[in-house]
Amino acid sequence: MKSQKCPICGAGPLQKIIKMETFNYKGSSKDIPNYMTWSCPSCGEEIVAKESLKESGKVLKDFQREVDGLLTGPQIKSIRMKLGLTQAQLAHIVGGGLKSVARYESGQVCQSKGMDNLLRILDAYPQTLNIINKNYVRTISKLRVVPLEEYKMKIVGYKGKNADFISDDEGVVADGV
Ligand SMILES: [Zn+2]
Repeated sequence: MKSQKCPICGAGPLQKIIKMETFNYKGSSKDIPNYMTWSCPSCGEEIVAKESLKESGKVLKDFQREVDGLLTGPQIKSIRMKLGLTQAQLAHIVGGGLKSVARYESGQVCQSKGMDNLLRILDAYPQTLNIINKNYVRTISKLRVVPLEEYKMKIVGYKGKNADFISDDEGVVADGV
């Protein structure tokens, strides 16, 4: 820290303190070791060192995700590696901006519950990637063309029988008149 004077009371010099800091979130707690702060001996104000703020920020984002039941950054990265995709490729598949996956992995941004579910499905069923990939969907449609034609023929045949039945019914109505 450049200024050794307290930004609150103007006294100084600030004292560097390294300690274990405990954070609480929704009833759960997380310990951050080597948490660095600058303490004012005059007014007792404690200022978190920028380095600790940056490092603990990522750790705490993952801690929040764990508490909220969301995948952590390392877990998302592990899923992506398992699928053999780059960050940009996965972002293209699951939607969102080009850097969205990079931000989920680094802990800068928390993914939505919907995004989390999609990533879990991709993890459990990697073949789901093929359904999302449009080129593969086109191949599937081609394969389904043949059975669909067969099905149509069956429907045509059924309609024929149905038409006969209707004409019989009309005949009955005609008799009644
Ligand atoms: Zn002070």
